[in-house]
Amino acid sequence: GSLVEARGIQKSFGQTPALRGASLTVPQGEIVAIMGPSGSGKSTLLHCLAGIYTPDQGEALFDGRPLNAMSEAERTRLRRTAFGFVFQFGQLVPELTAADNVALPLLLNRTKRKVAYKTADTWLDKLGIGDKGGRRTGELSGGEAQRVAVARALALAPNVIFADEPTGSLDSLTGEKVMDLLTGLAREQGTTVIVVTHDARVAAYADRVALVRDGIVSSIDLSVPDASAA
Ligand code: ADP
Ligand code: ADP
Repeated sequence: GSLVEARGIQKSFGQTPALRGASLTVPQGEIVAIMGPSGSGKSTLLHCLAGIYTPDQGEALFDGRPLNAMSEAERTRLRRTAFGFVFQFGQLVPELTAADNVALPLLLNRTKRKVAYKTADTWLDKLGIGDKGGRRTGELSGGEAQRVAVARALALAPNVIFADEPTGSLDSLTGEKVMDLLTGLAREQGTTVIVVTHDARVAAYADRVALVRDGIVSSIDLSVPDASAA
């Protein structure tokens, strides 16, 4: 069966149709890259799969359960415990340190303070910013902040990682490091990774590429499309 699934999702913003019947199934442990032209509906699809947006028609499912059939409390719990997010904006608290930001979701899940901060340090280390733990994230560079966001998503050991351009503000070497970490989690711990990207180098890490065009998933396959088409 599939762990994450979109079934005929339609979603509009006012008069603008963003998704027009998008379907996608992602088995557990698979890395799927969502690619396609700008404005084709990739981010909207990711937000629907993660239960952040509610589809107008169709449904998103997790482990066979429709997200819209869950209570808001259940969806919140799912997002806090099973899902990890690496989005471009609005996930770090700029006034808090890097270590605080990574530890916060763990503390919310009742992890002991000492364990939460030790875990935070470990992940910041793995992302090559172990020396930045005490810095406020508002003072970090874009690339450093992005790595804190990745550390924060991974520290929770989620079942699914939803990432929107996770390497967007990273140099290629650091981008590779992030993708190596995500691939390692998929291979070793069966973490499912769904990543929206324009970057063919990121897509090269995926088991499959889902190509979104005009609000539908137009193809799913192993070959990585030409980056210039994205
Ligand atoms: P990207 O393609 O880099 O992921 P975004 O998803 O941020 O870009 O935005 C894609 C398009 O959606 C852009 O044209 C943007 O103007 C539009 N958009 C995103 N968020 C909003 C919003 N809250 N209100 C209106 N338009 C939005
Ligand atoms: P992509 O991620 O492929 O760039 P999006 O899913 O961001 O595409 O956007 C798909 C369409 O929906 C675009 O026309 C975009 O402008 C519109 N859109 C996306 N988010 C919003 C929003 N929050 N408010 C209004 N329009 C949006």
